[in-house]
Amino acid sequence: MSKLNLVLFGPPGAGKGTQSAFLIERYGLVHLSTGDLLRAEIKAETELGLTAKELMDRGDLVPDSVVIGMIRNKIDAHHEAKGFIFDGFPRTEAQAQALDEMLNSKSEPIRAMLALEVPEQELVKRLLGRGATSGRADDSNESIIRNRIREYESKTAPLKHYYSAQGKFKGIDGVGTLPEITERLVKAIG
Ligand code: AMP
Repeated sequence: MSKLNLVLFGPPGAGKGTQSAFLIERYGLVHLSTGDLLRAEIKAETELGLTAKELMDRGDLVPDSVVIGMIRNKIDAHHEAKGFIFDGFPRTEAQAQALDEMLNSKSEPIRAMLALEVPEQELVKRLLGRGATSGRADDSNESIIRNRIREYESKTAPLKHYYSAQGKFKGIDGVGTLPEITERLVKAIG
């Protein structure tokens, strides 16, 4: 059986992290979130973390080379995985191409890109709510949240076409109860 490699896609606040938790459990996948990896670097006060923090606090993307390097290390460290769920990566076409090269060279390509679709008004509401409890600086300020959504629309949303061209794009309605959305994702995985 080939590996179940999935990209969980969607704007900030679409529920990627929350839904990842269900999918990991259900399919035994390894979760790779570049946002989580970057926050771990910041916590450990590494040089990479210091550089990334400034960009993340503004809601800008960090450079492709940084996140591609992190993902490469993690893929190499988990040969035993039944599959990976990529959360918050890729976010640019260069990242998507790099990921394809890494996985295709192992004959373990991306199976599907599951895109959670949520209207902007709902995203801002969810992120401000999360900021109140998560302590994430980039979730606490509406203008930073809107900048993250702009970054998504300009650099990341075009990846829908990248994966559509490969016949892998699956749009999922990301509004509803958590179990309803999980069910939609499971159906789309098939
Ligand atoms: P997230 O936790 O996915 O919302 O990511 C938080 C922040 O980390 C983003 O706003 C970016 O500044 C940075 N980041 C996370 N993943 C990536 C990525 N794949 N490419 C560039 N920047 C990223």
